Amino acid sequence: LLRVAGLNKSFGDNEVLRSIDLSVETGKVLALIGPSGSGKTTVLRCLNGLEQPDAGTVKFAGGPAVSFTEKTTRREKESLRTRSAMVFQGYNLFPHKTVLQNVTEGPIQVQKRPKAEAIAEAERLLERVGLAEKRDDYPHQLSGGQQQRVGIVRALAQQPSLLLFDEPTSALDPELVGDVLTVIKELAEEGWTMVLVTHELAFAREVADTVAFMDGGVVVEQGPAQEVLRTPKQERTRSFVHRLL
Ligand code: ATP
Repeated sequence: LLRVAGLNKSFGDNEVLRSIDLSVETGKVLALIGPSGSGKTTVLRCLNGLEQPDAGTVKFAGGPAVSFTEKTTRREKESLRTRSAMVFQGYNLFPHKTVLQNVTEGPIQVQKRPKAEAIAEAERLLERVGLAEKRDDYPHQLSGGQQQRVGIVRALAQQPSLLLFDEPTSALDPELVGDVLTVIKELAEEGWTMVLVTHELAFAREVADTVAFMDGGVVVEQGPAQEVLRTPKQERTRSFVHRLL
């Protein structure tokens, strides 16, 4: 579904991503793992158009390859942005909008879908994560786990081909992590294509088809999840994985 080649990104003198190559097959889950500051979040933000890479190519199946240069047009970037939807570490819900408004904002305002259709779809998705009765509540009235499930529903409502998860459970109290992981696991089983940044290596082992280990802005190793997590080839991967699993 997705091929990323030679992605580079610097913030000032800080070279945060160096020649990142990644691929995700349709219906599969790629877990991005690695120490804090290795560039995982920046990869997701580049895929979702929240950051502009300095160089590299991103190609979704069925669409043109977009090469990042100073000349990349807004239209090309837009063509990538609409293909993926992101679930954020800190939920990023609009505090002054209700649950339903948070979910329908993108479909109605950005995608210009009919309001009644967007609302019906939002209600269906909220029902499926057990939050139908919260549709008129505001984010602050919900637990962290409920807010994150709304964050997931908001991403699904955008009907993306790729779901991006940025450490979706790291802001949650331990007893709330399970509900969110269950929803993510169900989506993976349903065949959603996903890139998941996570510190939960046991969860990565359970849901990911492939794993990429990043350190210092490079992909050190990537391959089938069982291989990278159980029998890594690179010493850096081995010491990281063995510390956490
Ligand atoms: P964590 O697991 O802690 O979230 P990460 O692997 O996701 O880390 P990134 O958040 O991608 O890492 O950050 C990689 C590097 O890029 C860090 O050195 C960070 O300080 C830097 N960085 C990220 N965003 C910006 C920004 N907007 N401006 C300047 N530097 C940034």
